[in-house]
Amino acid sequence: MKFFSALRLPPSVFCLFLFLCSFFQTAGLAQQLTPLAAKPHWENLQQYAETITAEKLTKDLQEIYVPDGSWNNWITITPQEAVIQPYPEAPSEKNIHLPLAASEADCKKVPRYWKRKSERDPLPGKPLAGLKIVLDPGHLGGEWAKMEERWFQIGKSKPVEEGTMALITAKILARRLEALGAEVDMTHHELGPTTSLRPPQLRAVALQQLKKEKVKCTPYRLKKMEEALFYRVAEIHHRADWINKVAKPDLVICMHYDAEEWGSAKHPKLFDEERLHFLISGDFTPGELVNEDVRYTMLCKLLGRTHRQVVLMSDAVAKAFVADTGLPPFTYHNPAKARPASPDNPYLWNRNLLATRLIKAPVVYCEAYVMNDREIFQRVQLGDYKGKLQVGNKCLPSLYREYANAVAKGITNYYQN
Ligand SMILES: [Zn+2]
Repeated sequence: MKFFSALRLPPSVFCLFLFLCSFFQTAGLAQQLTPLAAKPHWENLQQYAETITAEKLTKDLQEIYVPDGSWNNWITITPQEAVIQPYPEAPSEKNIHLPLAASEADCKKVPRYWKRKSERDPLPGKPLAGLKIVLDPGHLGGEWAKMEERWFQIGKSKPVEEGTMALITAKILARRLEALGAEVDMTHHELGPTTSLRPPQLRAVALQQLKKEKVKCTPYRLKKMEEALFYRVAEIHHRADWINKVAKPDLVICMHYDAEEWGSAKHPKLFDEERLHFLISGDFTPGELVNEDVRYTMLCKLLGRTHRQVVLMSDAVAKAFVADTGLPPFTYHNPAKARPASPDNPYLWNRNLLATRLIKAPVVYCEAYVMNDREIFQRVQLGDYKGKLQVGNKCLPSLYREYANAVAKGITNYYQN
């Protein structure tokens, strides 16, 4: 204390100094968490004891979750158990031992609250009766769209805001799904954040993150980091927590509009490029898995066994979308970012996203259209409308209704067939 009073540090600088000291002490340890993640309760993994065989666990790790094979460095699988190292260089007494089933016939039931297709009671004319569906329109939109860099405007035209577009689409989809018998809820009904946190409250985490990324801390970079942690991390954690702990649905549909790099938001580049793809939790990289929370959540995701259902649902939605719109598939060229999820459907990709990783129930994650495609830009200018309007030389429904109808058809086809 004498040291600080001798330096005559004001209290705020003193607090920052204390924080940085504690950061340097912990940064040397091998245990790492992603920003705002809670430390995992590894003992909860025991709920999956004897729910999977060694063969199936190995196959899912290798084919879906960690296809570069690096899971081998921290999971040892014997016919009897999986021994999991919780973080790099963890001493062996910290290892987690998960008992495995001797055969498929010996597998215990996987604990889950969501209903499968065969477990509900559809009614005549109400194919989605008995299902609880949560819609998660991506991003914040409205006055927040500029901060989250999901905004552009050409001259005095209507601004293009992904969060606003996703919310309009989700509200139309909610009505369609309800008419088909589903109980529908949404992560938000208004534009803006659901988390009560705001960027200035995330300063300490932002400073830590800049340090971790070896980025020089300037007032501008600190502000950008606080904002990114707010809309990209805190908001997604908050929505996932609500879905997992309160809503507990049978299915979650995350709705996004894709885009090409548009450069300046006031002078955006437009393209003639349309596309569609669906993202499924998988393809984790060694760099992501050094984080203890990512290892834990990835294993929970694998052991929750939603992957196959999500592939089949995403396949049905992709087919309905293509039948209505003819959108071509988006292709990733970097296997460290995403890998194909199905040999039969080029629209489906395994990729590690925070939302699909954190949400426990099956998630259909849609990335549709390109917001800065010339025709889509024109359709955004037209807003939502009934029937069809002339767009260039085509007669088209509202962009929002086209999106919502395709998803509703695909989901219905999955549950009906
Ligand atoms: Zn998005």
